[in-house]
Amino acid sequence: MVATARVAVPVPLPQLFDYLAPARGDMPPAGSRVLVPFGPRRLVGLVLGHGEAAEPNSLNHGLKRIEQVLDAGLVDPELLELLERARRYYAFAPGESVNLLVPQALRRVKPFRLGPPDRVAITAAGRAADAGRARRQAEVLDWLQAGPMAREELLERGASAAVLRALMEKGWIASASAGAASTPQPGPELNIEQRAALARILASRHRYRAFLLAGITGSGKTEVYLQAARRLLRRGRQVLILVPEIGLTPQLIRRIEARLGLTAAVYHSDLSEGERLACWQAAASGQARVIVGTRSAVFLPLRRPGLIVVDEEHDASFKQQDGARYHGRDLAVMRAHLLGIPIVLGSATPSLESLNNAAGERYQLLSITRRAGSAAPPRWSVLDLRGQRGSLHPALLGAIERHLGEGGQALIYRNRRGYAPVLICPACGWSADCQRCDAHMTVHQSAGRLQCHHCGAASRVPPRCPDCGEPELHALGAGTERLEQQLQARFPDVPVWRVDRDSMRRRDQFGRLLTEIRRGQPCILVGTQMLAKGHHLPAVTLAAVLDVDQALFSADFRAPERLGQAVCQVAGRAGRGERPGEFILQSRQPEHPLLAELCRSDYLGFARRLLEERHAAQLPPAIALALLRAEAHDARQACAFLESAARCLPAAGLSVQGPVPAILARRGGYSRFQLWLQARERPRLLQVLPDWVEQLHGLPEARRVRWHLDMDPLEL
Ligand SMILES: [Zn+2]
Ligand SMILES: [Zn+2]
Repeated sequence: MVATARVAVPVPLPQLFDYLAPARGDMPPAGSRVLVPFGPRRLVGLVLGHGEAAEPNSLNHGLKRIEQVLDAGLVDPELLELLERARRYYAFAPGESVNLLVPQALRRVKPFRLGPPDRVAITAAGRAADAGRARRQAEVLDWLQAGPMAREELLERGASAAVLRALMEKGWIASASAGAASTPQPGPELNIEQRAALARILASRHRYRAFLLAGITGSGKTEVYLQAARRLLRRGRQVLILVPEIGLTPQLIRRIEARLGLTAAVYHSDLSEGERLACWQAAASGQARVIVGTRSAVFLPLRRPGLIVVDEEHDASFKQQDGARYHGRDLAVMRAHLLGIPIVLGSATPSLESLNNAAGERYQLLSITRRAGSAAPPRWSVLDLRGQRGSLHPALLGAIERHLGEGGQALIYRNRRGYAPVLICPACGWSADCQRCDAHMTVHQSAGRLQCHHCGAASRVPPRCPDCGEPELHALGAGTERLEQQLQARFPDVPVWRVDRDSMRRRDQFGRLLTEIRRGQPCILVGTQMLAKGHHLPAVTLAAVLDVDQALFSADFRAPERLGQAVCQVAGRAGRGERPGEFILQSRQPEHPLLAELCRSDYLGFARRLLEERHAAQLPPAIALALLRAEAHDARQACAFLESAARCLPAAGLSVQGPVPAILARRGGYSRFQLWLQARERPRLLQVLPDWVEQLHGLPEARRVRWHLDMDPLEL
């Protein structure tokens, strides 16, 4: 037998590959980045462990050597352990490990050279350094004493790229976006509840403990974790803050930086390859003290970790929906556990999963029931839409007028972009449907197009009915685009801002609009969930949710939870400043028990009721659920694969249902089916799944379908 390295390579195959030690040099340790031959190609892989194979002979001459060890032990054992657990839990291909743990720039076969950062700052070592006879280097250090400078400016003044690189390598200069310090701004005085929450977190600062910080909107949750972060930073620790979407939270990042007195290193998928690498390296070296990132930041190396925060922990964007389908929040908890540090999950509308964990005492619940400062929660009312023609109730229009007249701003939430969700022919009943999905096309009027929001298919709005020739087609219902027009027509003297993916295509547009809105002039905001996400808009005094009825009757068991979260988040935008707020809900089902419950109690009361229902119905989080999904042009092939998969599943301790069609049974021309695998005890599911999934790759039916396993699925 010979010793081998077990290497993960970035290919979608379900196994690791064995390689011999390089011709010269030792066997690299686990976590090493290596260059290996793979078929006719060479690939950058990651050593995940070691094994043994039969001596190379005429039969297994396929066993090859590692060509080159690029970085020995690049990835810490702690991260390898996290990855191993994640891989078993979510049953993803080992090749994904490379993508999750190694930034793209380090996955290239040709070495990637990190250029000087866009903004350059002097480090503490640089201030103390003596550049000696390196006159050019001394000059650059001298310029930077006054503060960070743009790379372009340094180059214009005559610093060459080589000089900057030399200074970077010595650690005398660094990216200004990682760890540059300023004086922290003092925060507001904490109230009793905030102080109690902070004390509990700090009491656990040396060990693992998971806290669910549930504070009503406007209660100053952020302030609590920022103060905890400050204490840990002062002890030289790093703080990792996970947020749902960076583009939507420019405000939050500025606030974090101001309050902590540090420039945050920001990590998300919109960064360039070089920027991502720079952030990864700054996190690994400990130079980045505060890191704010989206879900993939959970895999960043940390030199001196002290605290992990997951902001808006209920947000579905923490779950990756392709490739390695992991949940960033749940892995963050696992990571804090491995690191032996506290983690804070914050939300005004916690997920039922986290509330269930708090009820089971896996998480400690810290609740804040009062708004910070003098702000009071908004007054709620429900308007009955039955018998109304338009999508805006006259009483809502009256309320908007009143609030604008008193100098306030109004925020109108409608979770539908486009002009209208349906286009029909009043003569024959034809409707514009997607050819490839079980869905209507959405009318986008300004673009003159019909668009499918599921597969992206688009076409021109037909001038007349394609079936009967009727020239007058009707657009039914209203999306944000139509509401914007209606509101602008009704209130011509105030600006109406639309906030959705169509109107805010560029990342900086939304940030600029938020700045404009915070100047406080009366205006109307109409938009999708982009508007509901944790923004502090002190001049908004009226908030409204237009259409909740679809969610009340959805086939998705999570729909009521999402509805409650959206409603409470939108309501929470109103009255955060000096003036009291008002919240209006429009519905054709005003007596529906869920709405009654939402209006009667707070979100936590509502959520606990939903949690009881999930326990009674044996749905997550009361039980563990995984879906095996399969898609094919021919529905029979998808079902045949799932049936065959079900047959090779060990039955004990599991309940298997299906194949059943997905809620959207056809998308992009594919028929979509799934098997539901449920277990009362999560370990039972975990025991069975990894081997089963490996077996599925070998099924003959697997070659005719697209399939994957989704553990703890958020979409059905
Ligand atoms: Zn017609
Ligand atoms: Zn479609």
